[in-house]
Amino acid sequence: MQETSHNTTQEIPWASLSALRLFDRVDMEAVHPLLKECSVRSLHRNEVLIERNQENASLFLILEGVLRIHLDPKSPAIATPGAGETVGELSVLDKRRASATVIADCDCRLLELDETLVWLMVHASYDFGRNLLILLSERIRSVNGVVDRTMQLQREYEFHATVDSLTGLYNRRWLNDALALEMTRCLSREQPFSVLMADIDEFKGYNDRHGHLAGDAVLQAVAAAVRGTIRDQDMGVRFGGEEFLMLLPNADREQAARVAERLVDNVRRNPVRRQEDETLPGVTISIGVTSMLGRETSRALLERVDKALYRAKHEGRDRVVVA
Ligand code: GH3
Ligand code: MG
Ligand code: MG
Repeated sequence: MQETSHNTTQEIPWASLSALRLFDRVDMEAVHPLLKECSVRSLHRNEVLIERNQENASLFLILEGVLRIHLDPKSPAIATPGAGETVGELSVLDKRRASATVIADCDCRLLELDETLVWLMVHASYDFGRNLLILLSERIRSVNGVVDRTMQLQREYEFHATVDSLTGLYNRRWLNDALALEMTRCLSREQPFSVLMADIDEFKGYNDRHGHLAGDAVLQAVAAAVRGTIRDQDMGVRFGGEEFLMLLPNADREQAARVAERLVDNVRRNPVRRQEDETLPGVTISIGVTSMLGRETSRALLERVDKALYRAKHEGRDRVVVA
């Protein structure tokens, strides 16, 4: 670590001090005797001024240079205060350990006011206290901005963790929690609950003949057909590579079978487009359908719908089998 130099009072730049926001409208004559007690501190670039969770009993006013405030030194800075701004005020005011790590972003000069001096200054000058509050509010506001962006990122991560990027449908991970939840919900409302499991027919051959990218366009087209066929309250999931599961709350077997027939029909009739002007050969799908039988596990429901799908394949594909 580089050496920190504590300098003497002679180096306080009196003339420029009153131009800093902390001293805005402050009667400098009145606080002069107190400021003479302060020391000027020099920091080299990347030198640590305050370490998170360590004791800190001083407020530092930046005279020259820029500091970086990090919640975690390995993450990007949450703020980069410059000349006229302060750091360390939180731990001075609430007497707790430092809430962040503060590092010099370049060579800096700081005016150090220890805790006693800060309160004497507040006592001596109403304007000093007001300025300190304003600077503190601005810091809180800028940190709120960081919190906002972090929450937005978190929402995006959560979205990507539950949604399949190719098709925009929910993914298997989402289903793991949601299926049992939806079943319980319908059971408690005494509503039926049905599921459809769809699988693209002869898709391996399609990929072999037309290429994997054409296959991806098919998956997107089938997903679009799923979205276009189910009701708002239904949920479409990409269950596996070319398998889709649809959850239909409050739909009985007959209603679910009708949805499945419509979907098979839509996929069979709709062309697959890769781009506006490029139409690829179409595909067909097979669907198994079943409904929840009282209080049963999600696994039992999935096994039954999988068997129905298997029968649809076995009986010639491009069809619906209801279990
Ligand atoms: P069946 O009618 O019996 O379902 O025959 P199939 O050929 O569709 O069945 P199989 O399970 O043998 O093949 C599934 C194919 O799905 C194999 C794999 O290449 C393809 N596939 C799985 N995921 C993707 C994907 O993300 N993109 C593309 N293009 N193909 C995929
Ligand atoms: Mg399959
Ligand atoms: Mg298949």
